[in-house]
Amino acid sequence: MFKKVLIANRGEIAVRIHRACKELGIKTVAVHSTADADALHVRLADESVCIGGNKASESYLNIPAILSAAEVTDAEAIHPGYGFLSENAKFAEICAKLGFTFIGPKPEHIDLMGDKIKAIEFAKTSGLPTIPGSGGAISDIEIAVKAAEKIGFPVITKAAAGGGGRGMKVAHTAAALRGALHVAMSEAQANFGDNRVYLEKYLEQPRHVELQVLCDSQGNVSILGERDCSLQRRHQKVIEETPCVALTSAQRHRITKQVTAACQKMKYLGAGTFEFLFENGEFYFIEMNTRLQVEHPVTEMVTGIDIVAEQIRIAAGEPLRCKKSPVTPRGHSIECRINAEDPLTFIPSPGKVTDYFAPGGPGVRVDSMLYPSCTVPPYYDATVGKLIVHGATRAECVTRLARALDEMVVDGIKTNLPLHRKLVSTKMFEKADYTIHTLEKLLASERLK
Ligand code: ADP
Repeated sequence: MFKKVLIANRGEIAVRIHRACKELGIKTVAVHSTADADALHVRLADESVCIGGNKASESYLNIPAILSAAEVTDAEAIHPGYGFLSENAKFAEICAKLGFTFIGPKPEHIDLMGDKIKAIEFAKTSGLPTIPGSGGAISDIEIAVKAAEKIGFPVITKAAAGGGGRGMKVAHTAAALRGALHVAMSEAQANFGDNRVYLEKYLEQPRHVELQVLCDSQGNVSILGERDCSLQRRHQKVIEETPCVALTSAQRHRITKQVTAACQKMKYLGAGTFEFLFENGEFYFIEMNTRLQVEHPVTEMVTGIDIVAEQIRIAAGEPLRCKKSPVTPRGHSIECRINAEDPLTFIPSPGKVTDYFAPGGPGVRVDSMLYPSCTVPPYYDATVGKLIVHGATRAECVTRLARALDEMVVDGIKTNLPLHRKLVSTKMFEKADYTIHTLEKLLASERLK
């Protein structure tokens, strides 16, 4: 096992990784920007190194500075968390070349899944169900219209190098697609330095259902169940839960078998997530994330498996602790993402936290970067923490979530806590009666105001 791990990230996920390291008897090195000198991940770590200025490009994306920090602190391995360098195959390669273990999958798998067109090709050849689509990048408007007519309107444009919902434009008609294609291409170019976009059939009533996998270097594949992440705003997840109430055991069994086969075919290593849309009893692969996900704690709550500790063990060459697959979930778990933002306008709300109280009691977990009088800098993602609850049944879980949300205090900055409180008190949420479009519709109807 490693003696020392450098955590190449910040915020709640850096704290989460630190905790897993400590429980494995590993020393931690935090890296931080000048803005994060007093951040919780820096305070908790055994050592810390300032790697640059406030902008992510100067610090958390600054590969030479991160590698120098690993060198001077004698770290043996680097955990990238999520976001930042976590899906940068070059970074994973350079780590390996310099003798640092990258706690994540092989660079070729990061590359394969980082290109969504290649990922969908791989999914097709591995027997995973995919959405009718253009089957490749499209830049010519007339070819795009022909492809869309074949797929059937509505269609959605998606960036090959995409992430964060950028480059997605829905078109219900050929005229709309003519307008959308070039906007999507320039958005893709601006965000990812790659203007390739492709088309997919736009599904009108799906849920977002994803499967968590863990694979070790001995060839063991374990499926840790699914997560329903349908409650989204602008294609970004807001609340996640497991199990998904909409799945029958036969549907769960079928997709588990298909995902297991895909992992075995690619000889995947580490933690990963296969994302699907699920509509009318059918799964449709949309992408694979080759990293730890924000919503991993709900899976941990129902399986009892520490996914971050497993990632570290796998990277150290150890076999999976739990070779059972699929893992049978115990009870139900729901996570609310806590963002520093106005709950009505969603405008980010950085600043000094004057008061902070984390809820507790049975079945309540808070993964957060907050502490009383800390500062939320304006330079990074608005996510400041996650409230995760567990219950024996979904009904118990929902009641517990409402209770924990009521207890939670974050003062001095605005957060989306008021939105979560309203959302979990709706009949829609109580019945888990939602699709990926439900939250947007509720927000538009002003029923959450
Ligand atoms: P990103 O990597 O940018 O997050 P994804 O492919 O993971 O993009 O999709 C994010 C979300 O966008 C999905 O969870 C879903 O809500 C929506 N979405 C993606 N593809 C489609 C589609 N074909 N039809 C309807 N919604 C879609």
